[in-house]
Amino acid sequence: MRLDIFSIFPEYLSPLDLSLIGKARQEGLIDLSVHDLRDFTHDRHRTVDDTPYGGGAGMVMRPEPWGEALAHLMASGEPGAVPHLLIPGPGGVRFTQAMAHELAVEPWLAFACGRYEGIDERVIEEAEAMMPVTVVSVGDYVLGGGEVAALVMVEAIARLVPGVIGNADSLVEESHEDGLLEYPVYTKPPLWRGRGIPDVLLSGHHAQIARWRRDERLKRTALRRPDMIERLDLADLDTRDREVLAHLGLKDVDQFPADPSAVAD
Ligand code: SAM
Repeated sequence: MRLDIFSIFPEYLSPLDLSLIGKARQEGLIDLSVHDLRDFTHDRHRTVDDTPYGGGAGMVMRPEPWGEALAHLMASGEPGAVPHLLIPGPGGVRFTQAMAHELAVEPWLAFACGRYEGIDERVIEEAEAMMPVTVVSVGDYVLGGGEVAALVMVEAIARLVPGVIGNADSLVEESHEDGLLEYPVYTKPPLWRGRGIPDVLLSGHHAQIARWRRDERLKRTALRRPDMIERLDLADLDTRDREVLAHLGLKDVDQFPADPSAVAD
Protein backbone atom coordinates (compact mmCIF):
# COMPACT_ATOMS: atom_id res chain seq x y z
CA MET A 1 0.00 0.00 0.00
CA ARG A 2 1.23 3.48 -0.87
CA LEU A 3 0.50 6.39 1.51
CA ASP A 4 1.30 10.09 0.97
CA ILE A 5 0.72 12.68 3.67
CA PHE A 6 0.85 16.44 3.05
CA SER A 7 1.30 18.78 6.02
CA ILE A 8 2.97 22.03 7.04
CA PHE A 9 4.36 20.12 10.04
CA PRO A 10 5.99 16.99 8.57
CA GLU A 11 7.70 16.31 11.94
CA TYR A 12 4.25 15.79 13.44
CA LEU A 13 4.10 12.52 11.49
CA SER A 14 7.38 11.14 12.90
CA PRO A 15 5.59 8.48 15.05
CA LEU A 16 5.01 6.68 11.75
CA ASP A 17 8.69 5.64 11.92
CA LEU A 18 7.91 3.60 15.05
CA SER A 19 6.33 0.34 16.11
CA LEU A 20 4.12 -1.66 13.74
CA ILE A 21 4.00 0.96 11.00
CA GLY A 22 7.74 1.63 11.17
CA LYS A 23 8.39 -2.10 10.84
CA ALA A 24 5.86 -2.45 8.00
CA ARG A 25 7.65 0.37 6.18
CA GLN A 26 11.03 -1.31 6.66
CA GLU A 27 9.61 -4.57 5.36
CA GLY A 28 8.18 -2.83 2.29
CA LEU A 29 4.54 -3.60 3.18
CA ILE A 30 3.81 0.12 3.33
CA ASP A 31 5.40 2.78 1.15
CA LEU A 32 4.79 5.96 3.15
CA SER A 33 5.99 9.47 2.25
CA VAL A 34 5.45 12.69 4.18
CA HIS A 35 5.52 15.91 2.14
CA ASP A 36 6.01 19.46 3.38
CA LEU A 37 3.24 21.61 1.89
CA ARG A 38 5.55 24.62 2.07
CA ASP A 39 7.74 23.00 -0.61
CA PHE A 40 4.92 23.91 -3.00
CA THR A 41 5.08 27.65 -2.23
CA HIS A 42 7.20 30.18 -4.14
CA ASP A 43 7.45 33.27 -1.93
CA ARG A 44 10.22 34.09 0.51
CA HIS A 45 8.02 33.38 3.54
CA ARG A 46 6.67 30.08 2.13
CA THR A 47 3.14 31.35 2.79
CA VAL A 48 0.31 28.83 2.99
CA ASP A 49 -2.52 30.87 4.59
CA ASP A 50 -4.46 34.09 4.23
CA THR A 51 -7.46 35.90 5.72
CA PRO A 52 -10.95 34.50 5.05
CA TYR A 53 -13.19 36.09 2.44
CA GLY A 54 -16.30 37.43 4.16
CA GLY A 55 -14.34 38.25 7.29
CA GLY A 56 -14.25 36.41 10.56
CA ALA A 57 -11.63 34.96 12.84
CA GLY A 58 -8.62 32.91 11.87
CA MET A 59 -6.82 32.14 8.64
CA VAL A 60 -7.59 29.84 5.73
CA MET A 61 -5.13 27.68 3.77
CA ARG A 62 -4.56 29.19 0.32
CA PRO A 63 -5.38 27.00 -2.67
CA GLU A 64 -2.20 27.44 -4.74
CA PRO A 65 0.22 25.28 -2.68
CA TRP A 66 -2.45 22.57 -2.40
CA GLY A 67 -3.06 22.72 -6.16
CA GLU A 68 0.64 22.17 -6.85
CA ALA A 69 0.90 19.46 -4.21
CA LEU A 70 -2.02 17.55 -5.75
CA ALA A 71 -0.54 17.86 -9.25
CA HIS A 72 2.78 16.56 -7.90
CA LEU A 73 0.94 13.68 -6.24
CA MET A 74 -0.88 12.69 -9.43
CA ALA A 75 2.31 12.90 -11.51
CA SER A 76 4.22 10.68 -9.06
CA GLY A 77 2.09 7.57 -9.62
CA GLU A 78 2.31 4.78 -12.14
CA PRO A 79 0.46 5.59 -15.40
CA GLY A 80 -3.28 5.31 -14.72
CA ALA A 81 -2.88 5.09 -10.93
CA VAL A 82 -5.07 7.47 -8.92
CA PRO A 83 -4.93 7.98 -5.15
CA HIS A 84 -7.95 8.19 -2.87
CA LEU A 85 -7.56 11.54 -1.14
CA LEU A 86 -8.64 11.75 2.49
CA ILE A 87 -9.07 15.24 3.88
CA PRO A 88 -9.33 15.24 7.68
CA GLY A 89 -12.00 17.63 8.95
CA PRO A 90 -14.46 17.81 11.85
CA GLY A 91 -17.20 18.34 9.26
CA GLY A 92 -16.45 15.08 7.44
CA VAL A 93 -18.01 11.65 7.54
CA ARG A 94 -17.17 9.76 10.73
CA PHE A 95 -14.14 7.47 10.51
CA THR A 96 -15.02 3.94 11.65
CA GLN A 97 -13.49 0.48 11.76
CA ALA A 98 -15.66 -0.44 8.77
CA MET A 99 -14.16 2.46 6.82
CA ALA A 100 -10.65 1.40 7.90
CA HIS A 101 -11.35 -2.05 6.39
CA GLU A 102 -12.57 -0.51 3.12
CA LEU A 103 -9.52 1.75 2.88
CA ALA A 104 -7.07 -1.03 3.83
CA VAL A 105 -7.67 -2.78 0.50
CA GLU A 106 -7.03 0.34 -1.57
CA PRO A 107 -3.57 0.50 -3.18
CA TRP A 108 -2.94 4.22 -2.73
CA LEU A 109 -4.19 6.70 -0.14
CA ALA A 110 -3.21 10.34 0.34
CA PHE A 111 -3.94 12.66 3.26
CA ALA A 112 -4.23 16.46 3.05
CA CYS A 113 -3.74 17.81 6.58
CA GLY A 114 -5.37 21.18 7.10
CA ARG A 115 -4.49 23.79 9.73
CA TYR A 116 -6.01 27.12 10.80
CA GLU A 117 -9.72 27.30 9.82
CA GLY A 118 -9.19 24.68 7.14
CA ILE A 119 -8.41 24.53 3.42
CA ASP A 120 -9.96 26.80 0.75
CA GLU A 121 -13.03 24.87 -0.44
CA ARG A 122 -11.98 25.11 -4.10
CA VAL A 123 -9.12 22.68 -3.37
CA ILE A 124 -11.68 19.97 -2.61
CA GLU A 125 -13.51 20.70 -5.88
CA GLU A 126 -10.21 20.67 -7.79
CA ALA A 127 -9.16 17.38 -6.19
CA GLU A 128 -12.56 15.79 -6.90
CA ALA A 129 -12.00 16.43 -10.61
CA MET A 130 -8.85 14.29 -10.45
CA MET A 131 -9.40 11.57 -7.84
CA PRO A 132 -11.86 10.15 -5.31
CA VAL A 133 -12.00 12.46 -2.29
CA THR A 134 -13.48 11.90 1.17
CA VAL A 135 -13.56 14.45 3.97
CA VAL A 136 -13.22 12.40 7.16
CA SER A 137 -13.74 13.25 10.82
CA VAL A 138 -12.12 11.20 13.57
CA GLY A 139 -14.69 12.35 16.13
CA ASP A 140 -17.04 15.08 17.22
CA TYR A 141 -14.43 17.47 18.52
CA VAL A 142 -12.07 20.01 16.96
CA LEU A 143 -8.33 19.36 16.69
CA GLY A 144 -5.74 22.00 15.88
CA GLY A 145 -4.75 20.30 12.64
CA GLY A 146 -5.24 17.26 10.45
CA GLU A 147 -1.94 15.58 11.40
CA VAL A 148 -3.24 13.77 14.49
CA ALA A 149 -6.32 12.70 12.55
CA ALA A 150 -4.10 11.36 9.76
CA LEU A 151 -2.03 9.46 12.34
CA VAL A 152 -5.20 7.91 13.74
CA MET A 153 -6.43 6.85 10.32
CA VAL A 154 -3.08 5.58 9.05
CA GLU A 155 -2.61 3.47 12.18
CA ALA A 156 -6.12 2.01 12.02
CA ILE A 157 -5.84 1.28 8.29
CA ALA A 158 -2.25 0.02 8.15
CA ARG A 159 -2.70 -2.61 10.87
CA LEU A 160 -5.38 -4.20 8.68
CA VAL A 161 -3.02 -4.53 5.69
CA PRO A 162 -2.11 -8.23 5.40
CA GLY A 163 1.24 -8.98 7.04
CA VAL A 164 1.44 -5.83 9.17
CA ILE A 165 0.18 -7.66 12.27
CA GLY A 166 1.94 -10.99 12.73
CA ASN A 167 -1.05 -12.95 14.04
CA ALA A 168 -4.11 -11.99 12.00
CA ASP A 169 -6.32 -13.80 14.57
CA SER A 170 -5.79 -10.90 16.95
CA LEU A 171 -7.84 -8.72 14.60
CA VAL A 172 -10.94 -10.91 14.71
CA GLU A 173 -12.61 -10.31 18.08
CA GLU A 174 -11.49 -6.75 18.57
CA SER A 175 -13.73 -3.91 19.62
CA HIS A 176 -15.82 -2.55 16.74
CA GLU A 177 -15.22 -5.53 14.47
CA ASP A 178 -18.71 -7.01 14.91
CA GLY A 179 -20.67 -4.37 16.79
CA LEU A 180 -19.39 -5.25 20.27
CA LEU A 181 -16.48 -4.06 22.40
CA GLU A 182 -13.71 -6.50 23.33
CA TYR A 183 -13.81 -8.61 26.51
CA PRO A 184 -11.45 -7.81 29.44
CA VAL A 185 -7.97 -9.30 29.02
CA TYR A 186 -5.48 -10.53 31.66
CA THR A 187 -1.91 -11.84 31.77
CA LYS A 188 0.55 -13.13 34.36
CA PRO A 189 0.87 -13.02 37.33
CA PRO A 190 -2.35 -14.80 38.32
CA LEU A 191 -2.49 -12.82 41.57
CA TRP A 192 -1.47 -9.15 41.56
CA ARG A 193 -1.91 -6.86 44.58
CA GLY A 194 -4.56 -9.22 45.91
CA ARG A 195 -6.47 -9.23 42.64
CA GLY A 196 -7.02 -12.52 40.88
CA ILE A 197 -8.34 -13.34 37.46
CA PRO A 198 -11.65 -15.00 36.56
CA ASP A 199 -11.39 -18.78 37.29
CA VAL A 200 -12.82 -19.70 33.92
CA LEU A 201 -9.72 -18.35 32.17
CA LEU A 202 -7.60 -20.96 34.01
CA SER A 203 -10.06 -23.79 33.35
CA GLY A 204 -8.70 -24.77 29.95
CA HIS A 205 -12.34 -25.21 28.90
CA HIS A 206 -12.43 -23.48 25.53
CA ALA A 207 -16.21 -23.39 25.10
CA GLN A 208 -16.73 -21.91 28.58
CA ILE A 209 -13.99 -19.34 28.00
CA ALA A 210 -15.58 -18.35 24.70
CA ARG A 211 -18.99 -18.01 26.37
CA TRP A 212 -17.55 -15.98 29.26
CA ARG A 213 -15.84 -13.67 26.79
CA ARG A 214 -19.03 -13.21 24.81
CA ASP A 215 -20.97 -12.39 28.01
CA GLU A 216 -18.33 -9.86 29.00
CA ARG A 217 -18.43 -8.26 25.55
CA LEU A 218 -22.19 -7.85 25.80
CA LYS A 219 -22.02 -6.48 29.35
CA ARG A 220 -19.19 -4.06 28.61
CA THR A 221 -20.86 -2.81 25.46
CA ALA A 222 -24.20 -2.36 27.24
CA LEU A 223 -22.52 -0.44 30.03
CA ARG A 224 -20.17 1.77 28.04
CA ARG A 225 -21.81 2.00 24.62
CA PRO A 226 -25.57 1.42 24.83
CA ASP A 227 -25.81 3.04 21.39
CA MET A 228 -23.94 0.02 19.99
CA ILE A 229 -26.38 -2.39 21.65
CA GLU A 230 -29.24 -0.49 19.98
CA ARG A 231 -27.58 -1.07 16.60
CA LEU A 232 -27.00 -4.82 17.07
CA ASP A 233 -28.63 -7.09 14.55
CA LEU A 234 -30.97 -8.98 16.88
CA ALA A 235 -30.98 -11.98 14.57
CA ASP A 236 -27.30 -12.50 15.49
CA LEU A 237 -28.08 -12.94 19.21
CA ASP A 238 -28.43 -16.43 20.66
CA THR A 239 -30.54 -17.39 23.68
CA ARG A 240 -27.75 -16.75 26.17
CA ASP A 241 -26.99 -13.33 24.59
CA ARG A 242 -30.64 -12.40 25.10
CA GLU A 243 -30.51 -13.56 28.72
CA VAL A 244 -27.42 -11.44 29.38
CA LEU A 245 -29.02 -8.36 27.87
CA ALA A 246 -32.36 -8.98 29.56
CA HIS A 247 -30.55 -9.40 32.90
CA LEU A 248 -28.95 -6.01 32.40
CA GLY A 249 -32.41 -4.59 31.87
CA LEU A 250 -31.30 -2.75 28.76
CA LYS A 251 -33.42 -4.68 26.30
CA ASP A 252 -36.84 -6.21 26.73
CA VAL A 253 -36.11 -9.82 25.83
CA ASP A 254 -39.67 -10.23 24.52
CA GLN A 255 -38.96 -7.84 21.70
CA PHE A 256 -36.25 -10.10 20.25
CA PRO A 257 -37.20 -12.23 17.27
CA ALA A 258 -37.08 -15.99 17.79
CA ASP A 259 -33.56 -17.37 18.14
CA PRO A 260 -33.00 -19.77 15.22
CA SER A 261 -30.32 -21.69 17.19
CA ALA A 262 -32.84 -22.42 19.94
CA VAL A 263 -35.11 -24.41 17.63
CA ALA A 264 -34.97 -28.13 18.49
CA ASP A 265 -33.78 -30.33 15.63
N1 SAM B 1 -12.97 25.64 11.32
C1 SAM B 1 -13.03 24.22 11.11
C2 SAM B 1 -14.45 23.71 11.40
O1 SAM B 1 -15.08 24.24 12.28
O2 SAM B 1 -14.87 22.72 10.74
C3 SAM B 1 -12.04 23.51 12.04
C4 SAM B 1 -10.63 23.70 11.62
S1 SAM B 1 -9.52 22.84 12.68
C5 SAM B 1 -9.10 24.08 13.83
C6 SAM B 1 -8.07 22.72 11.72
C7 SAM B 1 -7.85 21.40 11.05
O3 SAM B 1 -7.80 20.36 12.02
C8 SAM B 1 -8.92 20.95 10.07
O4 SAM B 1 -8.74 21.55 8.81
C9 SAM B 1 -8.66 19.46 10.00
O5 SAM B 1 -7.56 19.20 9.18
C10 SAM B 1 -8.25 19.15 11.43
N2 SAM B 1 -9.31 18.62 12.28
C11 SAM B 1 -9.86 19.23 13.35
N3 SAM B 1 -10.78 18.46 13.94
C12 SAM B 1 -10.82 17.30 13.25
C13 SAM B 1 -11.57 16.10 13.38
N4 SAM B 1 -12.47 15.95 14.34
N5 SAM B 1 -11.34 15.12 12.49
C14 SAM B 1 -10.44 15.28 11.50
N6 SAM B 1 -9.69 16.39 11.34
C15 SAM B 1 -9.87 17.40 12.20
